[in-house]
Amino acid sequence: SVKSPITYTPQDIKIIKKVLNGYVGFANLPKQWHRKSVRRGFTFNIMAIGESGLGKATLINTLFNREIVNHRDDEETVEEDTEDKEGGVAVKIRSTKAEIEEDGVKLKVSVITAPGFGESINNTDYWKPIVDEINSRFDSYLEAECKINRSTIVDDRIHAFLYFIEPTGHSLRALDIAMMKLVHEKVNLIPIIAKSDTLTDDEIVEFKQRILADIAHQGIKIFTPEAPGDDDEETVSNTQSIIDTFPFAVVGSTKEVQTPDGRTVRGRQYPWGVIEVDNEAHNDFVKLRQLLIRNFLEELKEHTANVLYENYRTEKLKKMGIEQDSTVFREFDPLAKQQEERALHEAKLAKMEAEMKSVFQQKVSEKEKKLQRSEADLFARHKEMKDKLTKQIKILEEKKVQLEKQRSLPQEPMVQPAQQKTRKGFLR
Ligand code: GDP
Repeated sequence: SVKSPITYTPQDIKIIKKVLNGYVGFANLPKQWHRKSVRRGFTFNIMAIGESGLGKATLINTLFNREIVNHRDDEETVEEDTEDKEGGVAVKIRSTKAEIEEDGVKLKVSVITAPGFGESINNTDYWKPIVDEINSRFDSYLEAECKINRSTIVDDRIHAFLYFIEPTGHSLRALDIAMMKLVHEKVNLIPIIAKSDTLTDDEIVEFKQRILADIAHQGIKIFTPEAPGDDDEETVSNTQSIIDTFPFAVVGSTKEVQTPDGRTVRGRQYPWGVIEVDNEAHNDFVKLRQLLIRNFLEELKEHTANVLYENYRTEKLKKMGIEQDSTVFREFDPLAKQQEERALHEAKLAKMEAEMKSVFQQKVSEKEKKLQRSEADLFARHKEMKDKLTKQIKILEEKKVQLEKQRSLPQEPMVQPAQQKTRKGFLR
């Protein structure tokens, strides 16, 4: 007998939420992830661009509290061999690496600078080495991604691009706008007002407003950390306060100085007092460090990988004529590519063979038709000849019959027309 199907009513369906009796162990996942990440270490690549003397090296060293970038090195490079054809200063790319450790966590920092940037008005290609560097780092990643062992890829992509704005107090210069526009879709752009201690508080407020207005007007994208609504309140408000500080007006210094109230701080000493680097009331350095290192380093890297690099890759592949879809990787898998090429080759051969066959057949049938035609011709001519001959034979035969008839008649002399009557009468 057939069982009737069981029907469930909504009341029958229960979602079982249970506390596990025994410890399964996936609560250990964060620890596993942490251990692995710590062992591998973290990488972070920062590009610091701006005119010479704006305090780039100082700020980087202040951020990591270490002498990572050597000031003098940059100057030497600029002096040595960077004269370009027009006598302007050529822009060079310089990369400095450092491995630093804090509480057993390793961080491999790469700082990429462009000595010579903005030094010469003659130099119209000041931006090119910078854009080339960003692209070539994407390209190497793309290449590495296509190789078989992907787990060992070194991520050399630029994760943060600090653009140093001269503290003029006016607005952005054409050079600033042009440079930012060239890179804003390739990197996490973070504009910074350099040496902000040279401006008054009011000047900073106004300068920031003008810069933000220019940036909005020019459609320049700057990196903005996300503050999802489901994050805790403190995180959301902290993220918002970072965003509200844009563009960071910073002061850099690795030197320790004494405050009037006797504290030892990192800062810059002036006759009228001390500007403290790590004091939020004095400048935005703390906010910048939160964004770059303490709170959003991972987000900067994720945004680089998932958005900026992805866009670059899609564009690049499109230019190469490959549409972005699931087959992209097959194009780069050497084995699959080989198979595909062989299949293509075979298809080509088969096509050629088929073409040859059809040409051959066509030729044969043409010949056959020609032969048939000439055969028919021959027949026709033969028949014509035969007919002609038959006709001639017939004529000849008729003639022969007549001749014979004539011969069997008695011979008579040629008669005159008048005599013919007589002959007729005679015949009758
Ligand atoms: P870079 O060429 O952009 O790398 O600039 P450096 O870091 O070598 O700094 C150039 C000069 O500016 C040095 O004399 C620094 O001491 C000074 N400097 C760096 N940061 C600041 C700052 O925040 N405020 C002031 N007033 N001077 C700074």
